[in-house]
Amino acid sequence: MLVERDDAWWVCAVQQTNVIDLPPDWNARCENAWRARSAGGRRVAGLRIRSRSRSGARRRTTTAGPRGSSRRRGAVREYGELMEHAIEQARIGAAEGGIPIGAALVVGGELLSAGRNRRVQRASPTLHAEIDCIESAGRQAASTYRRATLFTTLSPCFLCTGAVLLFGIPRVVIGENRTYAAGEELLRGHGVEVVVLDLDECAELMADFVTARPELWHEDIAVDDAGG
Ligand SMILES: [Zn+2]
Repeated sequence: MLVERDDAWWVCAVQQTNVIDLPPDWNARCENAWRARSAGGRRVAGLRIRSRSRSGARRRTTTAGPRGSSRRRGAVREYGELMEHAIEQARIGAAEGGIPIGAALVVGGELLSAGRNRRVQRASPTLHAEIDCIESAGRQAASTYRRATLFTTLSPCFLCTGAVLLFGIPRVVIGENRTYAAGEELLRGHGVEVVVLDLDECAELMADFVTARPELWHEDIAVDDAGG
């Protein structure tokens, strides 16, 4: 996966489908890309996530398409209302002093469960929004997961990507991936449909939080707060 800003490229992760192929400095490279984007709390226009296949050919990874495209507008129309459940959770998390990331699990068009990142609230290293949401749904039959869509306000980390793959959830709808992106190509590589809505509301929640509490954000994504 490559992060592009204007004409410059940063390599975030060279191999896109196999986690064991990730370079040892992957975290630092992603962090550098993230710092470039969020320097001073400013939004950097034109940030796009792209991927490079093993053969070297580039292709877009944002299935919803660029801002202003009819494809993206269609995706927002189709999924925006259900994403509100996840956004509501993110806002509750922010009010609790936690990391403002929310998730919702939808099966057959109906809300099955919702959850939010509660690492701070529960003093938990693993209670990301997607995990909290799946946990809230309780034990489910494999056939239920096969019909589910996971909504999350922020692009999933590898922990949550692994949960999606384990349970065979076929579609993930993402509020934004400007702040962070890790598992999208891994999901696609395993046949999961990934839809990125690129919602300002989700990005602003994270931008405000990262500016106010950078140490909590770095802890969440396992990056040295000193910048290493
Ligand atoms: Zn996660």
